[in-house]
Amino acid sequence: MNKIRVRFAPSPTGPLHMGGVRTALFNYLFAKKHGGDFLLRIEDTDQKRFVPGAEEYIVESLKWCGIVPDEGAGFGGDLGPYHQSQRKDIYPAYCEQLIQSGWAYYAFDTSEELDNARTAFEAENKTFIYNRYTRESLKNSISLDDDAVKKLIDAGTPYVIRFKMPHDVIVSNEDLIRGKVSFNTNDLDDKVLFKADGLPTYHLANVVDDYLMKISHVIRGEEWLPSLPLHVLLYEALGWKDAMPQFAHLPLILKPVGKGKLSKRDGDKLGFPVFPLLWTDPATGEISSGYREEGYFPDAFINMLALLGWNPGTEQEIFSLEELTQSFGLERVGKSGSKFDPEKTKWFNHQYLVNRDNQMLASDFEKEIENRLSSINRELEGNKITFDRASLPTIVSLVKDRVNFVSEMWEQSSFFFVAPSDYDAKTVKKRWKEDTPQLMTDLKAVIETIEDFSSENCEEIIKNWITENEHNMGAVMNAFRLSIVGAPKGPHMFDIIAIIGKEETLARLQHAIAHINR
Ligand code: GLU
Repeated sequence: MNKIRVRFAPSPTGPLHMGGVRTALFNYLFAKKHGGDFLLRIEDTDQKRFVPGAEEYIVESLKWCGIVPDEGAGFGGDLGPYHQSQRKDIYPAYCEQLIQSGWAYYAFDTSEELDNARTAFEAENKTFIYNRYTRESLKNSISLDDDAVKKLIDAGTPYVIRFKMPHDVIVSNEDLIRGKVSFNTNDLDDKVLFKADGLPTYHLANVVDDYLMKISHVIRGEEWLPSLPLHVLLYEALGWKDAMPQFAHLPLILKPVGKGKLSKRDGDKLGFPVFPLLWTDPATGEISSGYREEGYFPDAFINMLALLGWNPGTEQEIFSLEELTQSFGLERVGKSGSKFDPEKTKWFNHQYLVNRDNQMLASDFEKEIENRLSSINRELEGNKITFDRASLPTIVSLVKDRVNFVSEMWEQSSFFFVAPSDYDAKTVKKRWKEDTPQLMTDLKAVIETIEDFSSENCEEIIKNWITENEHNMGAVMNAFRLSIVGAPKGPHMFDIIAIIGKEETLARLQHAIAHINR
């Protein structure tokens, strides 16, 4: 069997939608599973739709996701160039071949003439299609004789080259996801293969390049299924039937609610990103959010995407890229669309966050702490707040269960760094009784005597003191928490005080005694 070679072939017309990332991912997984190559080809023949920065965005997205091409635009390889705009000289010969063999023809119709034809059809409630029924009455190398055609070409008349769609043929193909798919050519039009600007259209360039780049499998979105019969016929017309790749058309990614495909425009409107990275539209300056900037881990994002359309056939949900590569197969990709679930996407991030190494999380969180503290410190006249880096991995380990993103850790842990300056009013009302200041003063005295300030030792000493003195455990602990944290939240109290230390614990108790008024 020939080597497995697949390609991701985006057009640089804007940011890569997450559906596009999934297409790239499934290609990557398929290639890696079979020891094959994953190529990146930039399909930039439609110059009107070219968007500056889009290609760089695509490459950066793939790199962020860890699905790095083995070959292609920016990645080297022997079968390049991998930008279609740099392959201009390659395509005309194939068009010529198609014309010679009668599979294609020149068409000289101006856009005005085509508009007129359309209007005339509409007047009779019909839709104009450039095909077997209309081509004879239009201006092309089928309706005109050779001399007339030669004259038009010699005079520099602009023309396109169209595919001559055969009549009454059933084109079938064995799609790796959908099984046998069949199309009747009578429903299809004579697609343009080569444009007046001297560039091929998507159809011609795509087929020629897949052939020349020795692509074995075309794995792409369902929206390309209608193009399949033309592509299959092009392989036949060019004499490449035996080298034709196998096709797999991936199901759509659907909106979380309602019907229809998750489109580029849905994104931020529905409250979640549709793009892997933040994108600033170069023309309008409009910003669309990205998973990276929203704080998602690339492996969590990829894991979520893999399960949109593919299922492992088991209950397993968490897969590293390596595990995905082992388990992936097109036979487990469904035909019907999968609904995108933004909540589940957060859940995936949570799972990855909880399992992430605390040192790594600590270094991600450190930047956030620095930012927060520097804005607090700017307001402070006297002593600036500093923090102890060494305690970060422990702090992170104590709060990570409660968050989906590193950016949410501050909310859950700010009291480790900054003493409360005010106290949650509801809790004060409920937990700060008349005798509480005295109780906290006594607690302070106990704490002053503790030498080994570890969580366990503090817990033992304080709890013993509570029981021996027949204090109410809840009354002491709730008021203690209010004094140290400022609110009824946070991890185990003794873990908190062990981290902030004895001096800070005493200072916070003192501040609470002096400032909390019922
Ligand atoms: N250039 C096409 C796109 O933008 C490629 C489709 C295909 O994979 O054949 O998706």
